[in-house]
Formats: sequence, structure tokens, C-alpha cells
Amino acid sequence: MSQVVSIMWVYNETPVLELEEPLAIAAGVKLLVKREDMNHPRVSGNKWWKLKYNLQEIAAQGKDTILTFGGAYSNHIYATAAAAEACGLRSIGLIRGEERRPLNPILTAARKFGMTLEYISREQYRRKADEAFLSALIEKWNDPYLVPEGGTNDAGVRGAKEFGISLQATPFDYLCVPVGTGGTIAGLIQATGSRAEIIGFPAIRGEGSLASDIAMLSGEIEQDTRWRLERNYHHGGYARKTPELIAFIEQFERTHGFALDIIYTSKMMFGIFDLMKRGYFSRGSTVLAVHTGGLFGRQEQLQ
Ligand SMILES: *Cc1c(COP(=O)(O)O)cnc(C)c1O
Repeated sequence: MSQVVSIMWVYNETPVLELEEPLAIAAGVKLLVKREDMNHPRVSGNKWWKLKYNLQEIAAQGKDTILTFGGAYSNHIYATAAAAEACGLRSIGLIRGEERRPLNPILTAARKFGMTLEYISREQYRRKADEAFLSALIEKWNDPYLVPEGGTNDAGVRGAKEFGISLQATPFDYLCVPVGTGGTIAGLIQATGSRAEIIGFPAIRGEGSLASDIAMLSGEIEQDTRWRLERNYHHGGYARKTPELIAFIEQFERTHGFALDIIYTSKMMFGIFDLMKRGYFSRGSTVLAVHTGGLFGRQEQLQ
């Protein structure tokens, strides 16, 4: 089978930039950003990697429909719809909660890419990994290929690992990445070994099972010392924003000339800046932050 599923779905190489950031200079730290937001014109960032092997798997299984789950502002829903359109697949998105009109920019775009949207209650949504619920879906939608929330399954982690391996030529002592379901950081843990400390910045509030999910996805039995989560930068929880965060995003963009999204990458970068202020990173070290994308609908995000 061909490596490239569709010519519309090819990967663009992305740069690593060094930021001229006064805080980094003061902290004696070299701050690099991997601009993975530039890897595809529609689906920027980690979602490209998480879909890569899922798309190959669909082709291998000879299926023509992809079905997945997400919240109304899910980058994964947007990415899946765009990927399906590019690859000539039918797509179905099961969206948590009630339908809201007018549709937000993510769902409007998903529909434009041909995705069938169906709304399911929050209770049903909680059952999204149950065996019985999934078999009913498979029957109802005529044997689609199922992708879990956030694209986080073995194929998704495999793609994230491959992204991590692509960073091998870049020197760094710390690798920073935003965290939602944990699939991306799990692949990076697999790829990076013990060459750096990996720091995840959850966009979600609270403990939950995130750390054990990551340990399981990455194949680690116990939490090991190569990675940790910085839980203090969620700004109130998933998709919540504070005036402080918005001011940070605007200042960052003025200084460095590129955008951060409000759900994930801005909270990570805010955290990195705070850790630099606190002297967390050793002087003389290199910090590599991954810009995981998520910029679609950004004007609406900031309002
Ligand atoms: C989905 C997403 C994440 C979270 O990735 P996980 O693999 O679910 O942890 C991070 N950043 C952006 C921009 C995303 O869209």
C-alpha cells in the first residue's frame, strides 16, 4: 500500500525557530519552537500525525467511512473531516451535547468538508468506549472505521511517535507539549527515550486518569522520571480563558510574529514562560516547545 494516502494529505516540512525572548535570555535558556502548526494547510499540528496511521489502517481494511467523536470545538473533528474529504472518505462526527445554531466555525467547516454531524447527549457520550454502544454504532452506520476521541488509539500514538523521531536531529534538554487526551505526549515519550525531560501541560483541570492513561498509552508500567505534567496552567479548565491568557497571547504574537491557539498552545507557552521566570530550567539548557496547531477559528477563540 502506498505511504501517502492522498496527495491532498501530504506533509509539509516544518521549521524549528529560536525565539528572541527576553525572559529566555534572562533565564540563560535557549527557547526553540517546532512549528508543527505549519505541517498542513488545513489540519495543522499533531492531528495530522494522529490521523496518519488511522488513514492507512482504513485503506488496509478497505473501508470507506470514518466515524469519530468530539466536543463542539474539537480540533480532532475538524481534522478528521478535512482528512476524510482529502482522501475521498465518508465521515461521521458524533458531537457531545445539543446542537447549537448557528454552527460554530469548527462544525461549519466540518460540514463543508462533508462530515455528517450527529449530536449525542452527555450521558451517551460518556459511554463512547463501551462495547455495546460501539457495536450499535457499527451496525447503524454500516461498518465504519472507528476513531476514538482526540484520535488517540494505537495508530494515533504511533504517528505521534514518528513525529518525535523526526525531532532526533534537534538538540534539546526539555521537550514541552500541550496535553488533551495524552496521545501525543505518549508517542513523544516512546520516541525520546531518556535524552530529555518531557513536560506536558494539560489543558484540562483536575487529576482524572490522565497520568495513568499516558503511562498506559506509552507502554510504561509505572510513571517514570522522564516525563511529568505541569498542572497549574489550565486557566480554569478546558477551553476556559482568562484576560491574563488573552493578554499573553496578544503580547506573544506582537513579539514573536506568530499565533498561539487559546485552548492548548497558549497555555503551554504561558507555563514555559512562568517556569523560566521561576528558574526551573537549568542555565545553559535548550527547551523545545511543540506548536501543536489548533489555530483554526482563532478570531472567534479570542472573542
Ligand atoms: C488535540 C490537541 C492537543 C492535544 O493532543 P492529545 O494527543 O489529545 O494530548 C494539543 N494541541 C492541539 C493544538 C490540539 O489540537
